[in-house]
Amino acid sequence: MKLIRKTGQGIYNLLLGMWTTLRYLFSHAITLQYPKERWIMPERSRGVLALITDPETGKLKCIACEMCMRTCPTAAINIVPETDETGKKQRYPKVFEVDQGICIFCGLCEEVCPVKGKAIKFVNLYEFSVYDKKKLIYDQKKLAEIGQGYK
Ligand code: SF4
Ligand code: SF4
Repeated sequence: MKLIRKTGQGIYNLLLGMWTTLRYLFSHAITLQYPKERWIMPERSRGVLALITDPETGKLKCIACEMCMRTCPTAAINIVPETDETGKKQRYPKVFEVDQGICIFCGLCEEVCPVKGKAIKFVNLYEFSVYDKKKLIYDQKKLAEIGQGYK
């Protein structure tokens, strides 16, 4: 009796597995053949952070207010504003670094940025794996390069 019950259960499981395979066999594939095929991130996705350049002036939109740095919950942002000869802070950064490795993609930096259109933004770039985590600390030049073409 036990053998019959176990055999019946086995056949049922086998047919169930085959039915599941059959159901998905002709449906649209949702996986990509990476890296031959690449995923296009939807608009407003959170890839890496970048600094945005003002197309009119060609300079960074950032006014070095440090609000993003103070808001960041993981201290992923480091900003040093430029100073004049008297030591007075200027309205642009001398140093702007983002450690993409400790960023948790919360978006608070983008949200608090007071600049119209935002000076710091997530861009549609998700392929930034490296072997050395120090390389995930992006400096101002790299952040500005990534932000090219974004408004
Ligand atoms: S997204 Fe969040 S964690 Fe990442 S840098 Fe901005 S505030 Fe920090
Ligand atoms: S990116 Fe925005 S919030 Fe951050 S320092 Fe620049 S202007 Fe201020």
